Amino acid sequence: MNPAIENIGLEKCTSCFACFNRCNLKAIKMSLNKRGFYYPIVDKDKCIECNLCSNVCPVIRNTNKNRKKDDLKVYAAYTLNEHLRMLSSSGGLSSEIAQYILDRNGLVFGATFNKDFLVDHIEIRDKEDLQKIIGSKYIQSNIHLTYNRIKRIIDEENKNVLFIGLPCQVAAVKKIVNSEKLITIDLICHGVPSINVFKKYLMEKSKGKKIVSYNFRDKKLGWTKGRVKLVTEDGLEYTSIKTEDPFFNGFICDLYLNTSCYDCKFSSVPRTGDITIGDFWKAPEEIVDEKGISLVISNNEIGDTILENLKVNNKIYLKESSLDNAIKGNPRIVNGNLRIRKHREDFFSDLDINDFNYLFKKYIKPLKRNVYDED
Ligand SMILES: Cc1cc2nc3c(=O)[nH]c(=O)nc-3n(C[C@H](O)[C@H](O)[C@H](O)COP(=O)(O)OP(=O)(O)OC[C@H]3O[C@@H](n4cnc5c(N)ncnc54)[C@H](O)[C@@H]3O)c2cc1C
Repeated sequence: MNPAIENIGLEKCTSCFACFNRCNLKAIKMSLNKRGFYYPIVDKDKCIECNLCSNVCPVIRNTNKNRKKDDLKVYAAYTLNEHLRMLSSSGGLSSEIAQYILDRNGLVFGATFNKDFLVDHIEIRDKEDLQKIIGSKYIQSNIHLTYNRIKRIIDEENKNVLFIGLPCQVAAVKKIVNSEKLITIDLICHGVPSINVFKKYLMEKSKGKKIVSYNFRDKKLGWTKGRVKLVTEDGLEYTSIKTEDPFFNGFICDLYLNTSCYDCKFSSVPRTGDITIGDFWKAPEEIVDEKGISLVISNNEIGDTILENLKVNNKIYLKESSLDNAIKGNPRIVNGNLRIRKHREDFFSDLDINDFNYLFKKYIKPLKRNVYDED
């Protein structure tokens, strides 16, 4: 049998890292390609065609016992810890659930910025370290060998482990770790933008200086008017309302997402995680404020138990809503299809040889959300 990536083809690969984690012979490595996405590369000299990678590839086969559309429990929610809520991208629900797991002697895996402002999945054992994973980072995270690590922790330490990630990553971790001790949160996901575009953008906005912080969702002007904020070592600040920030615009307008994101089989119901979390953009008017509202979907009884516990212990505000309401602001809950921008190929051809300013002027500035017919 061919390795998984040859069975599905690069265009369907979600860069979930399942095959990389599963290959005992280290015949697969993950490498950032020219467009800025992680893909598996198979060393044919080491590969014995054992088929293990195809068996764990969630694109090839993915069983899902979570609730079907009509049975989903949908909520508007936020943490009652104001500080945490302001730090979080939406209503801070992922951090509250992470604290719930840590309080019960469990562990959490989530995504953090590394020193180069690329994203890695890391292990959290102490509440003090939770701040490392707070906040959305809109590029692919490097999963490394996280799934194997989770399996080993559960086997050797017998602890509950919470994995927070994108729907494809949650599908992947569940293929490798078959245990009731694994608890998962999948994020509603618009798609992941190119790391190489993000690198060029950071270089431009930092003027090549050392960056000390970057926030995709700073709430100083509020949740809906969220802004990006970059700070360099010598105090240079770049801020922009996200709808006016070039990187965010190209992302939201689907110019440079991973190819598989345009036909994502994991942006659908049943959802992949025990709990699904996103922004409740069309939350009921009576609860909308500018601190951020999470959209939360409980996909099974594990989700029910955790949310109920957080509610009765006054950790979160939780109000029942409906899937129809949720979908209005977030069609990606049920629909993984996006239209591929006409200029996407030209953009990627230009990416290698041009700086961000050139790309911005040529491709991003004229883009407008939801006017697909004009491009
Ligand atoms: C690429 C991407 C696309 C998204 N698209 C949508 C969307 O279309 N609609 C929507 O409603 N919500 C989307 N979200 C989710 C949303 O931005 C918030 O992350 C989510 O609502 C959780 O917010 P919070 O306040 O609970 O947590 P926060 O404290 O903001 O934490 C976010 C959590 O997400 C995890 N995380 C952050 N970045 C990544 C990453 N790159 N890969 C994997 N995990 C990560 C962290 O581990 C952390 O636990 C997206 C997130 C990402 C990363």
